[in-house]
Amino acid sequence: RSSITAPAGGTIFARMTQLAAETGAVNLGQGFPDSDGPATVRDTAIEAINGGHNQYPPARGTGELLAAIARHQQRWYGIELDPASEILVTTGATEAIAASVLSLVSPGDEVVMFEPYYDSYAAMVERAGGVRRTVPLRFPDFAVDEAALEAAFSERTAVVLLNTPHNPTGKVFTREELAFIGELATRHDAIVMCDEVYEHLAFAPHEHVPMATLPGMAERTLTFGSGGKTFNTTGWKIGWVTGPADLVAVVNGAKQYVTFGTGTPLQLGIASGLEMSDHFFTGLREDMALRRDVLADGLRAAGFDVVVPQGGYFVLADAAPRGVTDAEQYALELPEAAGVVAVPASVFCDDAEASGMASVMRFAFCKKRSTIDEAVTRLVDTY
Ligand code: PMP
Ligand code: GLN
Repeated sequence: RSSITAPAGGTIFARMTQLAAETGAVNLGQGFPDSDGPATVRDTAIEAINGGHNQYPPARGTGELLAAIARHQQRWYGIELDPASEILVTTGATEAIAASVLSLVSPGDEVVMFEPYYDSYAAMVERAGGVRRTVPLRFPDFAVDEAALEAAFSERTAVVLLNTPHNPTGKVFTREELAFIGELATRHDAIVMCDEVYEHLAFAPHEHVPMATLPGMAERTLTFGSGGKTFNTTGWKIGWVTGPADLVAVVNGAKQYVTFGTGTPLQLGIASGLEMSDHFFTGLREDMALRRDVLADGLRAAGFDVVVPQGGYFVLADAAPRGVTDAEQYALELPEAAGVVAVPASVFCDDAEASGMASVMRFAFCKKRSTIDEAVTRLVDTY
């Protein structure tokens, strides 16, 4: 879709946030929290700034953050990583995705991915000269069509790029689904890139399963993480790649010339966050599940067909019962008509019909209760 890969007015997120600013609408479009995360994280960064940590970090990341990421992967998933060779700090998960795709996808290579997909996947695969082979996750159950997935692989498959918990559907891939994907990747000797930025936002009873924990998968899997979603610091742009040393070294080949390194004091702040007690992480997950429920119930009251997400930041809601047929058109009208901004899910698809997304909107619930309540009131009043 040229509208995604070469958008004249910026990405869908930039455009929707600008629309919210212009119209004064409640912004449930771009996925960012409207409140601050843990004070420890912010205080550590402030102390680092005032304590003289203001020069370039080591290119692969500060020792503190590399160690904290290694301990985090050990604590939560039992994954053992060598901080010196198996972890790379990046400028958000966005750079992790970009550097990985640019360094591991060659012209003509095929990349298997699900749709709807996060916008930068398609953009980066195209810029690398790769060809995406997408498999729909169909609204409302987002089941993996095993036959379609198998058919998407070929002898040119170089990479499988997936995301769990998934943006925008909220799907948390099960161990069985991941094993099936992993088996196909192994059979085709493909690298798996698994974007796990919402790892701490899989809502009970759903559990996040990292692809790298499946038997035999660690050696071919690159995992992407981010501090933004866990510590309400999306503007800090601290992310990371973990995986086998040889693949991480290849990714660093691109990353070292794109940014070299990222925000030293911010890395120290995120390191302190990753070391926080289990209590913080379980609290985050429970708190976000409540917000999800408030938004899902509110959207249902406003006439949408709602799928309660298993994880992540977003609710997908079909606006067809409100008379909508074209989500992109509706996204442009909604700020004036109802004073709310949401993102059309159709923009994350090559074929919105195939994934049942033609009239589906994405609403963010990583917001204060008062923000969600105001948006719901406006949507109910205009139904
Ligand atoms: N992957 C997914 C699935 C996302 O939703 C986002 C943004 N929220 C990113 C990657 C980018 O993460 P970052 O802000 O750390 O660059
Ligand atoms: N990941 C966020 C979302 O899906 C936005 C990130 C961005 O603005 N690029 O809304």
